[in-house]
Amino acid sequence: SVTHYDWLAHHAERIPDKDVWVDLHSNRHFTYREANDRALRLAVHFQRNCGVEKGDRIGVLAMNSTDMLEIQAACAKIGAIFLPLNWRLTVSELDFIIRDAAPDVLIHDRQFATEIKELKEKTGVPYTLETTGGGGNTPYEAAIAAASPSPVLATVTHDDVWTIMYTSGTTGLPKGAMNTYGMAFYNAVNLGVPTYFTPNAKTLTILPLFHTGGLNCYSSVALYFGGTTLVMRAFDPGECLRLINDPEVGLTHFFGVPANYLFMSQHPDFKTTELSRLVCAGVGGAPTPVPLLEIYKSRGLALQQGYGMTETSPTVTVQDAAMAFGKPGSAGKLAMNAEARIVDENGNDVPQGKTGELWVKGPNITPGYWNRPDANATTITDGWLHTGDACRVDEEGNYYVVDRWKDMYISGGENVYPAEIESVLFKMPEIADVAIIGVPDDRWDEVGCAVVVVAPDQTLAADDVILFCQDKLARYKIPKHVVFKTELPRNATGKVLKRVLKEEIGDLRK
Ligand code: AMP
Ligand code: MG
Repeated sequence: SVTHYDWLAHHAERIPDKDVWVDLHSNRHFTYREANDRALRLAVHFQRNCGVEKGDRIGVLAMNSTDMLEIQAACAKIGAIFLPLNWRLTVSELDFIIRDAAPDVLIHDRQFATEIKELKEKTGVPYTLETTGGGGNTPYEAAIAAASPSPVLATVTHDDVWTIMYTSGTTGLPKGAMNTYGMAFYNAVNLGVPTYFTPNAKTLTILPLFHTGGLNCYSSVALYFGGTTLVMRAFDPGECLRLINDPEVGLTHFFGVPANYLFMSQHPDFKTTELSRLVCAGVGGAPTPVPLLEIYKSRGLALQQGYGMTETSPTVTVQDAAMAFGKPGSAGKLAMNAEARIVDENGNDVPQGKTGELWVKGPNITPGYWNRPDANATTITDGWLHTGDACRVDEEGNYYVVDRWKDMYISGGENVYPAEIESVLFKMPEIADVAIIGVPDDRWDEVGCAVVVVAPDQTLAADDVILFCQDKLARYKIPKHVVFKTELPRNATGKVLKRVLKEEIGDLRK
């Protein structure tokens, strides 16, 4: 297999004085030379002090900071596996993941010290290291300062695993999706081309770095190209707008899930923010309501929708900026080096234009889940990954991700995709946020329930919501129930937790 070339080391020789990472929270800047030196020292620390060898896992439980990226870079030098953990999980959820992945080292933010102590006792992880994600006088910084910058470098190939990310678990128990060096390479190439990446790219990372959205959209792409990544500790819509607006910051790239764009558009500073300086504004990770695309379009910014998942590193399809105005709602065309099929329940190709489950194949696709031969056998068939997403493609090759296969419900024998109804309801000015779920019904088996968050200073009755849909949606798609809430439950990457909503709403027949 192809040998992986250390991206950070490469640029440290060619563009040593350029910033690779900027930590916004602690206002630290790292040049390629500095970052490479720190990663080398960290690698030495892992080898000498923690006995880490090629293939061993290094877990991190921390808020976003450039430390996370430098730990991942250190892993590449010695062939260790980076295991970023979702800090929003409970101790018992983390306990499951840590037992499954069995890291030798757990690096953690000071604020998670209590949880880490408990997890260390429960799981027997041998070594922990505390950081604040902000430099200063911490064991993490002391370890870097004390080590020499000369680890025993490992040869790693495209087939070796660089990162394991546990999938967000909107359905079932978390599974560790193995992400290889080859996947990261192909994602940088496949995503970098349609998002116009160059060494001059400056991107802002707001999504969690324990998720592929934060790590690979676009941090790892920027690293591959020799660009610069600004890391925000946690998503702050007003601060994002300020950074996008400031010509001295000079952001060229931004990626967010639809909720990030929604909350930015609802911020008071949105109207006065100059958005057009961005070269690329990517959106993906969840169905993007067309009205949201239109809000940005009216401000001169074409959101480039892309589709992907943790298992696909993540890019599968992505839309060109020029096409984004012409094909609203499309997640774009297939990325380079990726193959796709749309199949029925039996794995047979559906006729062109029909909706089915999307299966994908290519060098950007995971070799499988860690320790889960059972899951691998059911989700990967001859290299084709079953995405679990309902999708269709038009004659020109534009993909439309209709919804998650599992979020679809059947009402009176008709398939209903909640995302389509959500897109309609987002047009109501009184609605700040909305999610559709299927709920049991005696007559139709299931009917739609709109869970609505009313915009500030607005009032809205259930009947108005249903009435609004009358001339816009077929009868069987119109929600029969409307439930009002002050907020929708979302996971750490901003996706609505429909499973949680379903449990909360329950059976409305009673
Ligand atoms: P994750 O499980 O966190 O890796 O997220 C991957 C999932 O997000 C996919 O399986 C889809 O359900 C959803 N997703 C990603 N991109 C899109 C998109 N553009 N439109 C609709 N759903 C998407
Ligand atoms: Mg998933």
